[in-house]
Amino acid sequence: MTKKKVAIIGAGPGGLTAGMLLAAKGYKVEVYEKNDVIGGRTSRLKHGEFQFDLGATFFMMPKLLEELFEEAGRNLYNYVQLHRLDPLYTLRFGDVTFTPRVDRQDMLDEIERVFPGESQGFIQFMEKEGEKFDRVEKLLRRPFVHRRTYLSKDVLYALPKLDMFQTVYSKLSSYFNDERLKYAFTFQAKYLGMSPWKCPGTFTILSYLEHKFGLYHPIGGVNRICEAMRQVIEEYGGVVHTGKPVAQILTEGKQATGLRLENGLDVQADEVIINADYSYSVQHLFEEKWKKKFQKKMENKKYSCSTFMLYLGLKQEVNLPHHMVVFADDYKRNVEEMTEQLVLSEDPSVYIHYPTKLDPTTAPAGKSTAYLLMPVPNTEADIDWEEASPRMRQKMLDILARETGIENIESLIETEHCITPSDWEAMNIQHGAVFNLAHSLDQMMYNRPHNQVKELSHCYLVGGGTHPGSGLPTIFQSAKISADLVEKNSGAKTTQSIKPSQEKVTM
Ligand SMILES: Cc1cc2nc3c(=O)[nH]c(=O)nc-3n(C[C@H](O)[C@H](O)[C@H](O)COP(=O)(O)OP(=O)(O)OC[C@H]3O[C@@H](n4cnc5c(N)ncnc54)[C@H](O)[C@@H]3O)c2cc1C
Repeated sequence: MTKKKVAIIGAGPGGLTAGMLLAAKGYKVEVYEKNDVIGGRTSRLKHGEFQFDLGATFFMMPKLLEELFEEAGRNLYNYVQLHRLDPLYTLRFGDVTFTPRVDRQDMLDEIERVFPGESQGFIQFMEKEGEKFDRVEKLLRRPFVHRRTYLSKDVLYALPKLDMFQTVYSKLSSYFNDERLKYAFTFQAKYLGMSPWKCPGTFTILSYLEHKFGLYHPIGGVNRICEAMRQVIEEYGGVVHTGKPVAQILTEGKQATGLRLENGLDVQADEVIINADYSYSVQHLFEEKWKKKFQKKMENKKYSCSTFMLYLGLKQEVNLPHHMVVFADDYKRNVEEMTEQLVLSEDPSVYIHYPTKLDPTTAPAGKSTAYLLMPVPNTEADIDWEEASPRMRQKMLDILARETGIENIESLIETEHCITPSDWEAMNIQHGAVFNLAHSLDQMMYNRPHNQVKELSHCYLVGGGTHPGSGLPTIFQSAKISADLVEKNSGAKTTQSIKPSQEKVTM
């Protein structure tokens, strides 16, 4: 029997997960990635002798990934070595340092050391948020392609517990009194590129997940997970093409029939899966008749914030923890400037990732890498990044100098790479909004672009732009949902009926 052909646009975590699952089920999978490297925002950035994760560095819920590898007939740990982190991260509030721990008693002791009298709040947090997570999890595992899904048993059971009409900040305020402690459990809203004062209370589960299931560092970086998936796809006979940008999704009537590559070649496929940023895809990858329809649906959508990045190859090792968040002195104001006033903060918050101590594969012996991330407004804001970039770089270096105690930190820099929101945008990310569409109530579940395109059969979405949302665990889940839909729906169509307009590529 001829294998069904699946063409995937983009080798980000979403596209690779879908590719891995479908290749293991016997589909003939071909992934077309525009870059020369795979992984998208979770790719490996090589700079001289130094290696960085380009984006994702926080890796949580390995259980989910274990399950997906198992479904693909593989053992995750034959491909990736995971190291559990303890402490989870180091949080700096001025002179105060708080280091959340893995062991429950250690965590309670750490809360009492820094925030006396507050540890009871943590016990309640874990209990109540655990109940919420048990209900939310089911919603993350199912598609929301029909409005009637809201009437299903598990959704009706979950809805009253979702805290949808609270915010992450207000929900956390029910557990803790000290503002800094609240921030220690709300800064995770930034993973969605949102303000904790605006982000729906449902997302308090993000910090719960960190405390319940831990944080991990894959040796070699989070990008290794993408590499592992590529390997599995290839083991099943699939192909991951790099340096092959897709120019258009081909259609016949109301069905997707394949892809046109930028080099002019047409590729036939039974199923098309879009992993490229969906808002970008709507603007660029659809034929005119579809473009108009889909653009209309994307009008007035709200987007996440962006990030300003510095990747430094350092001539020596320095004294930094693995993950560190340095909070602005006035954190609320910093968040409001970023998400509402859309200006750059003079008093910013910065995340510093320093993996070399744990993972020597990231730098040559005796040297090290530092990754600095500043959440900033996306390109919808009126910011001239050519002018702002040197200023923001200096602010980040000042913070790095303060945290390492090395005044002349600049003299230790051997290599340096910078990414601004405009650079992210140039990587086909709409508005440089690296955490995709905002996760506001009106853009979640049924109101987020669906895993299966309603108007066009044989066309699916995976990645942070579809349900359940941004962040690696949910992106993996989006791919599982879409791969299941492909499997459920594919049956009627074969490639024989397809007549590509130009030269054909045989998959
Ligand atoms: C700085 C930063 C830090 C982050 N940190 C974390 C973190 O710590 N933990 C976490 O869970 N998440 C994190 N994320 C969020 C998210 O998990 C990652 O961004 C993730 O890589 C998104 O996966 P995706 O599959 O949705 O899309 P992407 O990774 O963007 O993949 C899409 C792919 O499509 C390709 N593509 C685009 N256009 C075309 C075209 N025309 N033809 C062919 N290919 C195309 C792109 O090149 C890309 O490879 C972070 C993101 C950023 C930017």
